[in-house]
Amino acid sequence: MTNYSLLNYINGEWTGEDLKKIEVVNPATGEKIGSVPSAGKEEALAAIKGANAAFRSWSALPAIKRADYLFKLQEIMLDRQEELAKIMTLENGKPLKEARGEVLYATSFLQWFGEEARRIYGRTIPGKTENHRMSVIKQPVGVVAAITPWNFPAAMITRKMAPALAAGCTFIVKPSELTPLSALKIAECCEEAGIPKGVFNVVCGDPKGIGEAFMTEDVVRKITFTGSTAVGKLLLRQSADGVKKASMELGGHAPFIVCDDADVDLAVENIVAAKFRNSGQVCVSPNRLYVQSSIYESFISKFAEKAKSLKVGNGLEEDVNVGPLIEKKGYEKVEHQVHDAIEKGATCVLGGKGRAENGAYFYQPTILKDVTSDMEIMNIETFGPVAPIQKFETIDEALELANDTPFGLAAYFFTTNVSTGTKLSEGLDYGIVGWNDALPSTAEAPFGGIKHSGLGSEGGTEGIEEYLETKYISMKI
Ligand code: ADP
Repeated sequence: MTNYSLLNYINGEWTGEDLKKIEVVNPATGEKIGSVPSAGKEEALAAIKGANAAFRSWSALPAIKRADYLFKLQEIMLDRQEELAKIMTLENGKPLKEARGEVLYATSFLQWFGEEARRIYGRTIPGKTENHRMSVIKQPVGVVAAITPWNFPAAMITRKMAPALAAGCTFIVKPSELTPLSALKIAECCEEAGIPKGVFNVVCGDPKGIGEAFMTEDVVRKITFTGSTAVGKLLLRQSADGVKKASMELGGHAPFIVCDDADVDLAVENIVAAKFRNSGQVCVSPNRLYVQSSIYESFISKFAEKAKSLKVGNGLEEDVNVGPLIEKKGYEKVEHQVHDAIEKGATCVLGGKGRAENGAYFYQPTILKDVTSDMEIMNIETFGPVAPIQKFETIDEALELANDTPFGLAAYFFTTNVSTGTKLSEGLDYGIVGWNDALPSTAEAPFGGIKHSGLGSEGGTEGIEEYLETKYISMKI
């Protein structure tokens, strides 16, 4: 088995041989698969210095030239798709076919934002006198610091770095300590693409020390974060002191509503694909299902029939559909939520059990019925392969149940009735709504939550705005 020993990528140099190491573990086997340096504040400051030094020349490049670097990077990552996918499966546990899919998804942002770079438009405003002209231009915010999670080790980086680089910003990412290898492999691809030194940096290590450097250095003008709501709130508070721009992609608790006039087979196909992807460790994963009473039993039996054929195991095996959970903490949370639901009266239709061995934590695809709103699973993000199902009678009731949460990331519903669909899509308090579609994420569309699920959007035309400042120029000529 290969042992990946990678270094941090700071200002175009591979550094950190002499630092303490972070061991990277395969969550499917508990085995050590590699190590990276455990950097702290000092190394983060060096990356900020490099990124700041590179900013003027990078931002002065014509947009089309910056785009060319992103297109080149896309090409290289696609050439190395199999290698990147394998490393991702090794450090994250997701099945290899999902990892291959993630490389495609990750590179789609390079293409989309490379194209968007040429469309950073300003505007002119009629002057107030004959010799007055007013114009508005958009300029890059400056150095961007990103903090990313382990569940999408490549896409959560490119979804931030592609718009940042396209806009003319320079970029530093601190990846999750659980999945740093994918980030460093992306850095290798950036180097191969000839992206100038200091423009893209990866600093793996101590979240607090690196976070402190990001927050206290004034040249860092933007913080972009994907992760838990608790850490997001902390970062928002910290970024207030430096009046930094901030984008936050935080937790969700997505409802999945199936109305009595839905195409049930389509709804089942979607829930199986969306719920068990990445073992449910996805912030937009359907977390709670509401099914209208007349189709409640038939939906559940079709869902269970389809889900029972999913194979749980090591993601490197081609026929595995559901990999391990990333770590013990996540496994215990899932176990706890399932026990809590059963204790409070839920019935287990499928699964309901896990398997913990040698530091690897697997949980079976699980379906719970007779679920009620007082159960923890109906209120707290699960991040596991468990689908709790509650019955509802009217659309108003479903809407009320769906909106009764502080979170507002993604919501899904299935109906063939246009008026019901319009009422739900407009009435759901969420940043992303899927109508007969539980996998809506794509580079062309904005992705982002409302309420406690976050601030700002990634992807779409909105995604690049997050990395731009507006400048108004008043000219007396
Ligand atoms: P999860 O529970 O999904 O692991 P976290 O919010 O804990 O989500 O982690 C997401 C990212 O935030 C990771 O890169 C992690 O290292 C980082 N992180 C956690 N705590 C802090 C902190 N205090 N300051 C800066 N980054 C942090």
